[in-house]
Amino acid sequence: MHYRYVFGPVPSRRLGISLGVDMVPHKVCTLNCIYCECGPTTDLTLRRKEYVPFRTVTRELDAWLSSHPAPDYITFSGSGEPTLNCRIGEMIGFIKQKYSKIPVAVLTNGTLFSDPGVRRELLEADLVLPSLDAALPGAFMRLNRPHRDLDVVRHIRGLTDFRKEYKGRIWLEVFLLPGYNDDEENLDALKKALKGIAADRIQLNTLDRPGAVKGLRPAEPAALERIRKDWDFPQLEIIAAVSERKQKASYNENIEDAILGTIGRRPCTVEDLSRILGLHINEINKYLDTLEADRRIEVLEMRRGNFYQLKR
Ligand code: SF4
Repeated sequence: MHYRYVFGPVPSRRLGISLGVDMVPHKVCTLNCIYCECGPTTDLTLRRKEYVPFRTVTRELDAWLSSHPAPDYITFSGSGEPTLNCRIGEMIGFIKQKYSKIPVAVLTNGTLFSDPGVRRELLEADLVLPSLDAALPGAFMRLNRPHRDLDVVRHIRGLTDFRKEYKGRIWLEVFLLPGYNDDEENLDALKKALKGIAADRIQLNTLDRPGAVKGLRPAEPAALERIRKDWDFPQLEIIAAVSERKQKASYNENIEDAILGTIGRRPCTVEDLSRILGLHINEINKYLDTLEADRRIEVLEMRRGNFYQLKR
């Protein structure tokens, strides 16, 4: 079967082996974050609709889950904002009813949580991973470049309201970028907002892949450590590097497609691809050489090594 909306499984930093479900087309999002590893947003919108056909996604999930070992999580993620799909609640319900043993996670930027209907649709998920990078309007605009009708105060209130209504776990990600949200005023405002939201975990992250904008630099480990100490939340952690794949298995039959599908979602190193696809580095390299010669992919040099991405 050719999968369009179900992808992976990928070894995720936070979720182990995670089977991805993409509920919106590439870069349909409420934000256009400068650090987005999927590139610039092409459809900056707040409009909720059935962006991808519900029946096709359930068919793909059924086909995948009946022929592979169960993943650690089924995760709504991908290269856009999944809560923009107006049937995400139904989709979570479908999984919980048919595959009740597999936990469901939702990776979201959380900007639509100001809508009580969106919050209600996520109540059945086991884990929700929203983001909050800025608590002041200036940093929100510069870092997240939101749709013009979004406002950071409502964003924070939406997250706080969700915490009160939702019984599952919330792991909130804060993305730190030097020069954008790491000054004292922004860090103080963020600390106050985080206190109110009271997530089960707060995960500090920074750039380790190329973002949508060139020339960004990651926060230094020592700076992240200083913030951790200063904020002093017991549930705060600095996110570690990608964990090793728990089981080695070659899930994708068509290797070239699998490589293109994986780096189409975010740029990867050879090592990332090797872990994700369960293939030897030498084998991945063979394909990368051919794809590069065919000018279908390109290389970007970053601190963590060479990253491959689709040729723009
Ligand atoms: S990082 Fe997430 S929220 Fe930001 S633009 Fe990319 S997909 Fe949208």
